[in-house]
Amino acid sequence: MSGDPYEFQRQRMVKKHIQGRGIEDPRILKVMRQIPRHVFVRDSLHHQAYSDHALRIEQGQTISQPYIVARMTEMLDVGEEHSVLEIGTGSGYQTLILARLARRVYSLERISELAKKAIERLRPFGLDNVKIQTFDGTVGWGGEGPYDRIMVTAGAPEVPKPLLDQLKMGGKLVIPEGDRRGQRLMLYHLTEDGLRRFSGEEVTFVPLIGRFGWTEE
Ligand code: SAM
Repeated sequence: MSGDPYEFQRQRMVKKHIQGRGIEDPRILKVMRQIPRHVFVRDSLHHQAYSDHALRIEQGQTISQPYIVARMTEMLDVGEEHSVLEIGTGSGYQTLILARLARRVYSLERISELAKKAIERLRPFGLDNVKIQTFDGTVGWGGEGPYDRIMVTAGAPEVPKPLLDQLKMGGKLVIPEGDRRGQRLMLYHLTEDGLRRFSGEEVTFVPLIGRFGWTEE
């Protein structure tokens, strides 16, 4: 986007908080240098959009911390031939990153106001490879699967089984797993020898609420 007043802050954020913390994938660095994160938060938070923090969005939800967005994207190992399912559209920021890296992105958000807002925010980017729907993502999106990659951007007690069932052989899934107050990033890799599980950073995400997640409080 031309005439972007936050261009300098964004380049600095990527250098310091993304590259500076060990993310090396040039494709991820490139899209994070390009995508205006401030567009995904309300006007009064624009000036905070390029610090390395989660920020409040509508409906009591959050846009994730930029480093964690980068880290989850790196763990997921997204290729341009991949079909990706995202659970938790939120602001749409991570959706756009995935859309620039993958062939197709299917994103589910349980709160319809957020899904609508994300669709509005994404419209100016002219994407033709993204579908967003309001639905309980813990049951997945069977009609469009199976997927090469699945990213869950809300904290779950454990990985929802329907999501593992919608993963292609060789596929990968990233999810924050733990309790409601804190989780750890987990990577699942479905191989011919079975399901492999790797652990990453400690994180704090809003809860994944649904049939195979937490109940609403
Ligand atoms: N990736 C988002 C972004 O870039 O803005 C941040 C996502 S936010 C941390 C988590 C989102 O997951 C919230 O918008 C929440 O409403 C959504 N969510 C929680 N449970 C869900 C479910 N079962 N299905 C779909 N979305 C869900």
